[in-house]
Order: sequence, then structure tokens, then C-alpha cells
Amino acid sequence: MGFCLAIILRFAYRVQLNALVMDESIYTNYPPQLSSEQQEYLVTATKDWAIQNGLAVRPSPAVLPKNADPNGVLATNAPVSLFPSPFPKVCFNEAQALQTVYNQLYAAITCNEDWLGKIIEDLTDVDDFVANLWKTHLTVQKEGYVQDLSLGLYRSDYMAHVTPNNAPALKQVEFNTISSSFGGLSALVRSLHTELLSTPLTYPPHPLLQSGTPPDNTAVETLSGGLAEAHKAYGPSKSSPGLPLCVLFIVQDGERNVFDQLALLKRLTGFHKVPTFRVKSNQILDQTSIPADNSSRPLIYHPPHFPESAFEVTTVYLRAYYSPDEYTSSRDWEARTHLERSAAIKCPTVLNQLAGCKKIQQVLAEPTGPDHLSSFLKDVDPTIVARLRETFAPQYDLSAGGQGRDLALNPETAMKHVLKPQREGGGNNVYKAEIPDFLRSLPESDWKGWVLMELINPAANAENVALRNDGEVLRGNVISELGVYGTILWEKTGKILHNDEGGWLLRTKGKEVNEGGVAAGFSSLDSVLLY
Ligand code: ADP
Ligand code: MG
Repeated sequence: MGFCLAIILRFAYRVQLNALVMDESIYTNYPPQLSSEQQEYLVTATKDWAIQNGLAVRPSPAVLPKNADPNGVLATNAPVSLFPSPFPKVCFNEAQALQTVYNQLYAAITCNEDWLGKIIEDLTDVDDFVANLWKTHLTVQKEGYVQDLSLGLYRSDYMAHVTPNNAPALKQVEFNTISSSFGGLSALVRSLHTELLSTPLTYPPHPLLQSGTPPDNTAVETLSGGLAEAHKAYGPSKSSPGLPLCVLFIVQDGERNVFDQLALLKRLTGFHKVPTFRVKSNQILDQTSIPADNSSRPLIYHPPHFPESAFEVTTVYLRAYYSPDEYTSSRDWEARTHLERSAAIKCPTVLNQLAGCKKIQQVLAEPTGPDHLSSFLKDVDPTIVARLRETFAPQYDLSAGGQGRDLALNPETAMKHVLKPQREGGGNNVYKAEIPDFLRSLPESDWKGWVLMELINPAANAENVALRNDGEVLRGNVISELGVYGTILWEKTGKILHNDEGGWLLRTKGKEVNEGGVAAGFSSLDSVLLY
């Protein structure tokens, strides 16, 4: 008996020791070095797998000049990491556990038009884009909305912050309420890494690479499941005579991340049997209409490739219109208003898009004053609300006499911060040393359009190897950002009809790079090995 106990204790101690050693050495020897032959083998395997399985993007003109592919037939691998990246299991699990609560929070904010409107209206004199979105909402509100349902396909982005006592803590980078991308491709990167891990003689031996495979990634099922729920909830055709029903993806002209979108579309048409079409944002007004004599305002899609047929749109999924440079003329605002006033369920509505403003995230994170989180999440267990609050990094407005202004203008403290405007899609933030001069270059009256956020501090010595979409291979120190997907369908009254979580994205960027967007060219798609 005593002997058994001694063995068990020794074993437990060894496990504990291993865990400790693994924690400390997890980055130092990872990923293992590759000989040039090993790297070539891995790059070839990755490139071929990517095209075989649709882990692909259309090349940018920088990679392939337009005259080399005048008909736009070519595709290339999406930027991917050759190795999965280690990521703390506690953080991964926490992000998944909180997702449906985050979904609920952003639905509740969108329902509270007074609260949201007050914050947004304060931005309208310094931010034309926010002002135009708000105006679009007010225009439709004046006429009266005819659709009470809203759909959110969200992605909450995080980093694993290293606390002073070396424990990893989940910290949110941002919450996306519009065009949350990469669900399709991230599920594929998980499959790629899983296959490479289980193929003999692909990776040099390393304990982490033998410790398991990346967790399931159900992003495609979750996101297309949300769209299918909205499609069902729309009910029968509002046209007379009735029309067949469909979902519309509104996409950018010249979109390069098309295969990511097609992964959702394929699931929606193949598994859910929902007819789904893609319409470029600049063709909305040509290809859709709202009959003037139907007060229900159904949105009718006229497929240009079959002009004699027509569909009624149940759900409009925006993979466009999140950035001001997409609204090139008043025609784009007209098209956005046209969608918004229609009976189609919007993913997202203008209000839900505005709820995703960085300013809202800063207000939610305010440590003093009214407890907005608890008011929005009244029916949620307070310990879970507290856990959600724990994911906030410190954020500040730049009001006169406020802490944020001091932190931003002082070169020493600015180094620990990032300055964000009310924008999506990458490439808009100002970092560290550049903050004080940048702010001073703006009239002080514009400062309220920006929020200051403390930089999250992920592990310093992580490494990986990226295969860029022009074939370039880069090895170096990296920072990884986890995204977790969720979907929610709710009524204007606040009643939730569907709330789901599932699937994730890991984006890994060079440590010296401030921004993290894959589409914007800063980072590569990755997957996680949990430790
Ligand atoms: P966008 O809406 O343009 O994606 P983000 O808030 O996600 O804006 O910022 C873009 C990138 O900047 C992120 O992907 C991340 O790499 C970096 N970043 C943003 N906020 C922080 C932060 N608090 N700490 C560290 N990096 C950050
Ligand atoms: Mg982002």
C-alpha cells in the first residue's frame, strides 16, 4: 500500500514537474529547427494541401500583377504558419465559455437604443463615417423598421496576456460585430495542421508536436448555422404571389478572401439547403428591389444570370460596408439604406454595427461609474459577468483632465498603449511612440473620436515560421491573436431566439509588427496546440 502511494506520489510529482518544465521551455525550443530539405518538404506539403482544399486567396496585385492574370483565374495559398502555435488551454477554454455571454451583451446593447445613441451621437461631429451610419439608422427609424429580428455573426479577439506573476490571462483585443471573417479558412488551417501532425516524417520530433492535435474547429457550422436560423425565422414570403426565399451575401468588388466566404455559402446551400447568392455592394441597387406597393417591404433579388426568376431575401449577410472607403458615393449610402429599410434580417443592422465601435468597448471597460455590464446582463450569473469583465484591458477616453490624455501625451506611458479610431479592418491604429505627436497633430476637438488602450503583453519568446502567399518563408518571434466565433438571433424586444458559440481563429504576426490583419497583409493564419 505504502509502496503504491509512493509510486503515485512520484508519478504525480513527475507530471507536475513535466508541466512546469513544459511551461518554461514551451517556447524556447519551439518550433524545432528545420533543415533546408525539411523546410522544402513542409512548404511543398503546405502549398499543395492549401490549393487542394481551398485554403486559398486570390493574389493581390503586389503578388501577381494584373497583366500576368488578366482574367483573374489564379489563386494562391492563404498566408499560413508551418507549425501550430502553443496557446494556454485556460485562456482558450475561457474565451469559449464566455462567447454566448458576449453575444448576449452585444445584442442587449443594440436593443438599448437610448444608451447606444447617446454615445454614438457624441461621435458624429468628429467622425463622418459614424455620422453617416447613424443618419442611415435615423432615416429608417423615421419611416419605421419592418423587421424586428437581428442576426449577429461575431468574433471576439483576444491575446494571452502574461501577468507579472507569469500566469496567462485572457485579454480582449476587440469585439467584431460586422464581417467577422476567416471562419472558413481557420477551420481549414486546423485540418492542415492536424494532417501534417499525423503524417510520419513531416515535422522533426518535439514533445509539443506529439502532445496532441488542435481542438475541433466548428466555425463554418456555427456561422452558417446562425444564417440558417435567421432564414427559418423570417417565415413565409411576404410577396404576393409568394416567391422562393434566399440568403444574400453582400461582398466587396474585387474581394480576395472569396474562398473563406464560399466555405460558409457551401455549407448553407449544401447542408441547410438554403439558396444563397453573392451580390457585390456596388450592384445592390441594380439587382435587388423593394416593391413600392408592398408595405411589408420584402427585398427581392433579381439574379442577373436568370433575369426571369426572382427570390425574396430573408437574410442579408454583410461582408462589405464596414469601412468608409467602401462608400465611394451617395449611391453606396443609398444602397445601405435600401437594405436597412427592407424586411430582410440584417447581419448586422446599422445599430449592431455601431455597437461594435471601439468607443463602446472603452465605455464598457470603465472601472468607475455606472456598472453597464451588470445592467446589460441582468439575468446572467454575476460571477460570469465578473469573468467577462476580467477580459477587458484598461481603456481610456481622451477627455480634458482625464487619465487617458496624460497617458497618451507622455512619451514614456504612450509606449505601453495603442490609440484606436472607430474603424474596422486593420491599418487604422496608432502605436506607442507615435501617439503623442499624432494626437498633437489633430485639433483637440477631434480627440474624442479616439480611445487609448493599454497594450496586451503576450509571451515574448514565441516563434513560428510563416509561409506567405507569395511563397516567401519567414521565421521569427511572433504574437498570436485568438478569435472565437459566436452567433445570436434576437428580437427587438430583447428576446433571444438562438445563441451559439463555436469555432476559432488563430492569427500569428511578426512580433515587430503592430497591426494584426491577415487580409491587410500583416499576419498568417495559424492553429493552436493547447498546453
Ligand atoms: P481592427 O478593427 O482594425 O482589427 P484592432 O483593435 O483589432 O482593430 O487592432 C488591430 C491590431 O492591433 C490587432 O489585431 C492587434 O494585433 C493590435 N492590437 C490592438 N489592440 C491591442 C492591444 N490592446 N494590445 C496589443 N495589440 C493590440
Ligand atoms: Mg481586429
